[in-house]
Amino acid sequence: MPTPLDPLPFESEATEADLALMARQLGRTMRGVHSIARRCACGAPAVVRTVPRLSDGSPFPTSLYLTLPSMVEACSRLEARGLLAEWTAELEENSELQQSYAHAHERYLERRSELGSAEEIDGISAGGMPHRVKCLHAVVGQALAEGPGVNPFGDRALELASDDTTIDRCRCDLTPAMLEEEGA
Ligand SMILES: [Zn+2]
Repeated sequence: MPTPLDPLPFESEATEADLALMARQLGRTMRGVHSIARRCACGAPAVVRTVPRLSDGSPFPTSLYLTLPSMVEACSRLEARGLLAEWTAELEENSELQQSYAHAHERYLERRSELGSAEEIDGISAGGMPHRVKCLHAVVGQALAEGPGVNPFGDRALELASDDTTIDRCRCDLTPAMLEEEGA
């Protein structure tokens, strides 16, 4: 038996208010929610942790899902700069990077398996891991949930995004306090 992972460092329970706020962040209901893996400074969900199989039976590989609008936008801007192709090319050349990215992939699978399994996605993580960088939102989701030193490209993207946004400084159009006021 492999040693169990340490708990996710920032994980907290998902409340009804979190679900309502995420629906506003995403414009749809987030399905398969297990917990909140990371929050914005204002308390808004930033990364949601989902179960590997949704209640309708469909498998859901991206178990650390980025929802924070400012961070989602920052990742999209970085992708638009062509970083995915650039970093994938770099990965092909750099065996050290390959090794740490492969670890990130293994960690992703192990973390997800804490919540069950879905054989359709066995060995499939997210974001293009372990051989490509296909989606910064996915690798940043893991980096924010697990903390630094786990996903090399997630850490890098967060560093680059920090001109526009960081998890430590709220840039939300809708905060939990504002949502509560709406309902009051
Ligand atoms: Zn915020």
